[in-house]
Amino acid sequence: MRFINTRNPNESATFREAVLLGPATGGGLWMPETLPHFEDWDSLLQLRWVDRSEIILRRFLGDELDGDALAAAVSEALNFPVPLVKIRRGLYALELFHGPTLAFKDVGARFFAQILELVRKPGDPLTILTATSGDTGAAVAHAFWQRPGVRVVVLYPKGRVSDLQERQFATLGENVMALAVEGSFDDCQALVKACFNDAALKARHGLTSANSINVARLLPQMLYFAEAVAQLHQQDVRDGIVIAVPSGNFGNLCAGLMAQATGLTVRTFIAATNANSTVPEYLDSGEYRPRESVATLSNAMDVGAPNNWERIQHLFRGDLYALRQALRWGFKNDDETKRAIRELRGMGYLSDPHAAVAYAVLEDRMGLSETGVFLGTAHPAKFLPVYGPMGIPVTVPESLAALRDRPLLAKAIPNQVDAVKAELEH
Ligand SMILES: *Cc1c(COP(=O)(O)O)cnc(C)c1O
Repeated sequence: MRFINTRNPNESATFREAVLLGPATGGGLWMPETLPHFEDWDSLLQLRWVDRSEIILRRFLGDELDGDALAAAVSEALNFPVPLVKIRRGLYALELFHGPTLAFKDVGARFFAQILELVRKPGDPLTILTATSGDTGAAVAHAFWQRPGVRVVVLYPKGRVSDLQERQFATLGENVMALAVEGSFDDCQALVKACFNDAALKARHGLTSANSINVARLLPQMLYFAEAVAQLHQQDVRDGIVIAVPSGNFGNLCAGLMAQATGLTVRTFIAATNANSTVPEYLDSGEYRPRESVATLSNAMDVGAPNNWERIQHLFRGDLYALRQALRWGFKNDDETKRAIRELRGMGYLSDPHAAVAYAVLEDRMGLSETGVFLGTAHPAKFLPVYGPMGIPVTVPESLAALRDRPLLAKAIPNQVDAVKAELEH
């Protein structure tokens, strides 16, 4: 499969090239040139999660990657369950947080780490430079920690990620460097972009992005949408499936839309954001106004200029009318998020703040005869400061609790590209 630059349809790359390049030239992103349409979804949906995932990815990448190596990458990356939890009739949570860092970003990051081993030139320098609003840093750092010949540099907005989130990536050390930037997540993303624009720097360190802009993270995210539908089929739910995606950089929703384009029977996707409502407002007004992000309870979605929206625009050829037909959307503020957490708790389900946003928008936008699924993108225990004041007890999994006593190895830096470059030279 070939990938094309969203900003220049004449520029294309192999998967291998696209993975190693990260962003495309001119700030564009790589997208599959065409998406295959699968006629055999019914039988695919009867397969086990890992087997199905392997077959699907082989159809995307089998022309370039060895089948056995790809199979090994899939089974290693997706070695945790993705349960669909029934909350009440017609309402489900797809829990994507049973991986090692307790967030859905494990799926993309672990697959990316596997793929990078397959496509990189042995011996060349390799530095994964990534900006995180909380969960990416942890997932990427863990996926690459102690891997020989790879260095990970995580940029994050100082004071804007939760304590346990920070500890997940800033206590590892060894080949993982954590840089606390005096700025917002958008600032961190801009710093990463600026480093990539420095060709000499990029070549010297073998800079590679592990953000959701990398195609190797995007593709495996299609897989759990199929798993949600498969588990609904097992419960005899086949029609009227709507899936609400708590969105920040919009990689998750993009992957869902790509899965739908291959013929997966999802009626519609719901784009849900917190107060960082650039996309819902665009869909309402037709005017796209990226802006500074504001801090919310669902901090991994605090993105004012979502990177992957460009990919979704590309999928719909920039046709606002088609986008409005294909999607439903909405956004929720922090009070509404807390109300949603309480409502779900009343139904016996403890939700993290991100999933709660998706649930709240789903409740607004789904029809009575439809079956709603919202994505549970992180474990609630990653957000203890949200639940304490609400008087809601949260059990912290042992893997997280153990991090509390580890010393932070982060270094604070100003919001300046030269400061990042200086750290890279160490
Ligand atoms: C990253 C993240 C999101 C947003 O996903 P995008 O693909 O960036 O839209 C939502 N919830 C959690 C917990 C996340 O870590």
